[in-house]
Amino acid sequence: MPKRQSLLIGACVLLTVLALVVPSFLVRLVLAGLLIITAVALVLINRNSVNRSPDRLDQSSAPENLAVSSLLEATLAGMREGLLVVNKDMRVVASNPAAHKLFNPSVASLKSQRLTELTRNPAIYSAFLDGLKGIERSGVKVETHGPERQVFDLRVVPIGSTNGHGAQGALGVFFDITRTERLENIRQEFLSNVSHELRTPLTAIIAFVETLETGAMEDPESSQRFLSIIRKNASRMHGLIDDILELTAIEGGNVRLRAAPVELYTLVEEVCASFAAKAAAQNVMLENNVPSEVIVYADERRLEQMLTNLIDNGIKFSREHGTVAISYESGTRDKILVQDNGDGIPAQHLERLFERFYRVDRARSRDIGGTGLGLAIVKHLALLHGGEVTVTSELGKGTTFTIHLPTNPRKSA
Ligand code: ADP
Repeated sequence: MPKRQSLLIGACVLLTVLALVVPSFLVRLVLAGLLIITAVALVLINRNSVNRSPDRLDQSSAPENLAVSSLLEATLAGMREGLLVVNKDMRVVASNPAAHKLFNPSVASLKSQRLTELTRNPAIYSAFLDGLKGIERSGVKVETHGPERQVFDLRVVPIGSTNGHGAQGALGVFFDITRTERLENIRQEFLSNVSHELRTPLTAIIAFVETLETGAMEDPESSQRFLSIIRKNASRMHGLIDDILELTAIEGGNVRLRAAPVELYTLVEEVCASFAAKAAAQNVMLENNVPSEVIVYADERRLEQMLTNLIDNGIKFSREHGTVAISYESGTRDKILVQDNGDGIPAQHLERLFERFYRVDRARSRDIGGTGLGLAIVKHLALLHGGEVTVTSELGKGTTFTIHLPTNPRKSA
């Protein structure tokens, strides 16, 4: 096999391996681009050396060409990106399994199919048409609306000489950017939520400071009232920033759990004690129904944080003279239940309740000092423990949040 081909094959294999192992999407994009260029160069060199058309490459009988085409095949089959090569008549002359999955898994092979038979998407068609005219296209956004929506970034390059008569073919690569796009949407939504949440208390603070400056300070009673509103709004911003930092740390994998045996009854007692004043102010009773001998396996500080959030919500959304009860159930997993007899949550909200900033009654939550992040933090902490948190609720009767934790491996040993 000529030295040039060996080098290119080596480069193909190396780039494929790198593209498969490198986690960064951007680096993978660059590697995939290089891989395509190398593969195309290999096809062209090989075609020139055996003086045959590229779509018949795989039928060669010469041992070195067989080796080339099987390596190429393995390389293309291993790519996550869909790859499609069309000839001048817009018929497919080569494709890889990822492209097959993307276009039409019901036909045995894409080979010889017209591009118009595979897709009615005008963006794809016009990108390949440009490729045949010798024009390189990149950044073409392609969406599919099958059982699940997928988004691709299509890049098309011409193949062969373009000496005034257009190219001999066009090669397109479909980069799957569904996940990247979803993450980008989440990030934007998060940023807009955070800005909105911060702006409300900040506007109130500025307004009351201005009122004080324009004379209200002379009246001790009003100035005291305005200062306390300013303090309330400032602590709301403080709480929000704390929760955002906490959630970011948990989601970013920067929180390490130290799971150990925890005496649940004692922990619940401590959390209830910290809420005694708040519960009394709202005439809510806190009941610790956990048997004294129960041991669960968890990171104590993080379990305390989860219980604090749930009991706080129980008190906040409870009714006058209501009760928030904490109990324990054993089973394949340890269950810690926080149950209130408040107004309950309408069924249509339950599915989204653990999303960041999701609230059933936005105005009420803000009024009572909620950030809308508490349940998202509980969910992530439960997941970090290898467990989960679930909710059941009945309108007019109350709500039960359950933390499910893996049972202590030492206990069953
Ligand atoms: P918040 O800071 O608003 O309490 P959470 O994430 O803790 O944020 O809760 C999200 C929303 O879920 C609340 O705004 C409220 O509408 C609802 N919720 C949470 N716990 C309860 C509960 N025990 N009873 C009724 N509604 C609740």
